[in-house]
Amino acid sequence: MTSVAQTAQSPASQTLDVRRIREAFPLLARTIGGKPLVYLDNAATTQKPQPVLDTLSRYYAAENANIHRGVYQLSQNATQAYEGARAKVAAFLNAAEPAEIIFTRNATEGINLVAQTFGRWQVGEGDDVVISTMEHHSNIVPWQMLCEEKGARLRVVPITDAGELMIDELASMLGPRTKLVSIVHMSNSLGTINPVRQVVELAHAQNIPVLIDGSQAAYHMAVDVQAIGCDFYVVTGHKLYGPTGIGALYGQRRWLEAMPPYQGGGDMISSVTFEHTTYNKVPHKFEAGTPHIAGAIGLGAAVDFIQGVGFEAIADHERRLLDYATDALLGVPGLRLIGTARKKASILSFVLDGVHAHDIGTIVDTEGVAIRTGHHCTQPVMDRFGVPATARASLAMYNTVEEIDQLVATLTKVRGIFG
Ligand SMILES: *Cc1c(COP(=O)(O)O)cnc(C)c1O
Repeated sequence: MTSVAQTAQSPASQTLDVRRIREAFPLLARTIGGKPLVYLDNAATTQKPQPVLDTLSRYYAAENANIHRGVYQLSQNATQAYEGARAKVAAFLNAAEPAEIIFTRNATEGINLVAQTFGRWQVGEGDDVVISTMEHHSNIVPWQMLCEEKGARLRVVPITDAGELMIDELASMLGPRTKLVSIVHMSNSLGTINPVRQVVELAHAQNIPVLIDGSQAAYHMAVDVQAIGCDFYVVTGHKLYGPTGIGALYGQRRWLEAMPPYQGGGDMISSVTFEHTTYNKVPHKFEAGTPHIAGAIGLGAAVDFIQGVGFEAIADHERRLLDYATDALLGVPGLRLIGTARKKASILSFVLDGVHAHDIGTIVDTEGVAIRTGHHCTQPVMDRFGVPATARASLAMYNTVEEIDQLVATLTKVRGIFG
């Protein structure tokens, strides 16, 4: 299953053979309006490699059955495959055990789960939840809803002009009323990589649990939840080269055991009468109803694929691309990068003097170049930098220097049109 990935890494070094990698992603061979597709919207979602597609179609064609219920072989095999995928995701994030992984629909659902269970249980009137200016709306709104319900206060750690977390400000906000810190590992609109380990150390020194939003980080770098020391960590399958509709929440067992359930229904119970229901053990307590079985198994195939290529090779390749793209973009007259943190990865947000971001996106699309324009679900970041929107090119393991050249050429054309 990982043969493509393995041969895509040249044996002598950790250098990535991007041509071989691209062959594993059928969609990348597409044309758009007769032009080769240049896909640079990976921060929104990544394309899917053949082993993931094969796993999904094999599951539905030959292995489909509901899990955790049947005594017949097909159902038992599906259960094994689903639980096997949980073990793969646990190993991928270095969780202490598979039971610390809860399958969700996406990262958003993982955060909402923590807000609605841990949050409703732990956060009360006059308490604080701490987030940062660079959070995705998914890591803002669930906490706003919780704070509103409970009469608690949402406190926001500011960021610098470079787009870096002001860690001293964070430290000064923590206190006896702080019930949770929830911070993004890697910003989807700035590319900033936050010092999550330091955040955890600061918070844990005051017994405050920490959730890390790893939606962006997890496909660019090796994540070790035990080394980070966080209490919760969320990822989303469709950015991990896996299917949509599947994500994972990592939670330390002691929290998962103590937290009330999220949704009620089948599979999350161990017994039900009209008088009383007892809940299943973790992780099943948090997975009510028939889950996205195919999605979980597909996500397992996706993390196998990533590990076959290896994060050393991926990070090395993406670092070169980012450096190359940063220099190349700064050569476009009137272009300003938003997000210049010392530690950043794979994301180039920018504005062009006198051109609305939306116009940039529309014009480059006519050349087959797919970039994102808008607020990237981080409106407070736009406000912080005083821009209505940015254009954003975001890189993945399969992008090439030629694609960056193509982006820059089309931006130069945009520049020409707008004078
Ligand atoms: C994409 C993203 C999310 C939300 O992911 P969903 O798959 O939409 O749940 C949250 N945070 C960050 C940083 C993201 O990049």
